[in-house]
Amino acid sequence: MARKKIIAGNWKMNMTPSQTVELINTLKPLVVTEDADVVFCVPAIDIIPALEASKGSNIEIGAENMYYEEKGAYTGEIAPDMLTDVGVKYVIIGHSERREYFAETNETVNKKVLKAFEHGITPIVCCGETLTQREQGVTMDFIRQQVKIAFLGVTAEQAKTAVIAYEPIWAIGTGKTATTEQAQEVCCGIRKCIAEIYDEATAEAIRIQYGGSVNAKTAPELFAQPDIDGGLVGGAALKPDFGKIVNWK
Ligand code: PEP
Repeated sequence: MARKKIIAGNWKMNMTPSQTVELINTLKPLVVTEDADVVFCVPAIDIIPALEASKGSNIEIGAENMYYEEKGAYTGEIAPDMLTDVGVKYVIIGHSERREYFAETNETVNKKVLKAFEHGITPIVCCGETLTQREQGVTMDFIRQQVKIAFLGVTAEQAKTAVIAYEPIWAIGTGKTATTEQAQEVCCGIRKCIAEIYDEATAEAIRIQYGGSVNAKTAPELFAQPDIDGGLVGGAALKPDFGKIVNWK
């Protein structure tokens, strides 16, 4: 069965709750499609207004992060139950900005991925190499390691429902999109890695996004690649351009 595309916006630390409502009202009519799942991953404080504003539309609301413990003395963190209680279905895990600025490691990413599945939240698991790693020719070794650790203890049935976002760090927020060939090559490599960990059926089912300066111009060619099942979009997700990305065909 063909995989349905999934196009997610990563709002990062942008938009107040009132700006959230305004932006969703603007984007709502522009992102209507049956060809893709459309997810807006928003800051924690924007989740409830985003859910309210997107009611009756095809927009799903996701979180940008989540902690791996159930509850307790973890000041500033968001528990999985808090997300499911209000209807959040997706969570970005291990974004390179979280790894770089908030000391997330492959091990904490794995704990979060396991916890998300335990609560029925679909993780969007991020991986991607630095420019130095690409230049040293170790891109695929590095990403395979990230993916293998992220999925430790995850069952094949769970993995089939997961989303992996391949985001080369040098392409995030830089305006430098990876070439279509580079993006396809790594997404294909990730799928092979999933086949090795699990089996062909799991590799065929899992959805793999490309992220890194995706815009309305680059999306059509990227999303036409056999192993690219949509995108994780930062900057362009805050603009009407997101409607064009979602309707890339
Ligand atoms: C991201 O933050 O996940 C991202 C891909 O950002 P941008 O599209 O702005 O490069």
